[in-house]
Amino acid sequence: MPEQLLERQDERPDGAGFRIAANPAPRSADEVAAVLGSPGFGEHFTDHMVLIDFGEPQGWHDPRVVPYGPLPLDPASAVLHYGQEIFEGLKVYRHRDGHLRLFRPEMNARRFAESAARLALPQLPAHLFVESIGQLARVDASWVAAEPGVSLYVRPFLIGTEAFLGVRAARRALFGVIASPAGPYFAAAGQGISIWLSRRYSRAGAGGTGAAKCGGNYAASLLAQSEAQAHGCAQVLFTDADTRTWVEEAGSMNLFFVLADGTLVTPPLDGTILAGVTRDSVIRLARERGHRVQERRFGIAEWQHGASTGELTEVFATGTAAVITPISRLVGEDVLIETPAGGHGSVTAALRDELTGIQNGTVADRRGWMFDLGGVC
Ligand SMILES: *Cc1c(COP(=O)(O)O)cnc(C)c1O
Repeated sequence: MPEQLLERQDERPDGAGFRIAANPAPRSADEVAAVLGSPGFGEHFTDHMVLIDFGEPQGWHDPRVVPYGPLPLDPASAVLHYGQEIFEGLKVYRHRDGHLRLFRPEMNARRFAESAARLALPQLPAHLFVESIGQLARVDASWVAAEPGVSLYVRPFLIGTEAFLGVRAARRALFGVIASPAGPYFAAAGQGISIWLSRRYSRAGAGGTGAAKCGGNYAASLLAQSEAQAHGCAQVLFTDADTRTWVEEAGSMNLFFVLADGTLVTPPLDGTILAGVTRDSVIRLARERGHRVQERRFGIAEWQHGASTGELTEVFATGTAAVITPISRLVGEDVLIETPAGGHGSVTAALRDELTGIQNGTVADRRGWMFDLGGVC
């Protein structure tokens, strides 16, 4: 077993208590450059991953960086039968000073803990969450491109691993972090995307898991997402489960409406939609730029009326993967709403430029949003 031997020789304890087992066969500089030249989204993975176990009585234990690869999983694991899983998504940016930085990772750490609580999974301390991402980013630093537009998307996740078929919360869990170089989420985002109004399926209802970032929400959305794609739309728009008239969110993005008087409207966080970090950041940036921002219900009827009278000028979606993406139209079985500004709204563009400027380090970070992972040369 020469590979195992190599792995053991390279293992060394680390200041933060992480064990590091270097990948004995990392991709060459040429192979990494080829991926960064055309990354796509979520198609290629770096050479390493982070794993941390949870179990009684030790609690969280054995934090480690290991070669990227398959997980050994008991076929009776809770995640495979009852879907006990949560995840997060954030990006590592390389700034011109050579430092790697994260955008507001403490918000992802807090949301991860809240999602864990809702899914009856153990809560990972915020410092371990952020440190895990730092460990992986430093080991796989060569996968973080220097050009803005390509970043390293990081995917933390947590699964119930106890092998037991009775229905109750698992007592053992596994936390992991993997990373994938990412280009634009939507290939044609510059022109604005079309979204599909699902009248048949709901994503979340009152008392459900809509506010948690969990795989189960996505499992419930995939059929509607296929329907959207079959109608030439990039994503699906979900409305409230009760009346199917109020806008909730698009598949993996929060939504904003720009009114002619400069007011921004976004649906409220009432338990059925996800509290996006990008959503929160856009609300803050917009208010500082002098916009009134309302967190209130916004109906399909108001959307249709506003677009036809010109009271509604722009629509955009927000999320870590998609950043700020213009919505050029809403398509449904009984509706077609064209956004007056199409994909070229000035409010959307100004907010996107400021947000991506802060993230990429070309606009001053006056709010202390960027988290420094240190210099890597
Ligand atoms: C992750 C996610 C978002 C966007 O959240 P960000 O923190 O901005 O990336 C929006 N809606 C859903 C359903 C999500 O899973």
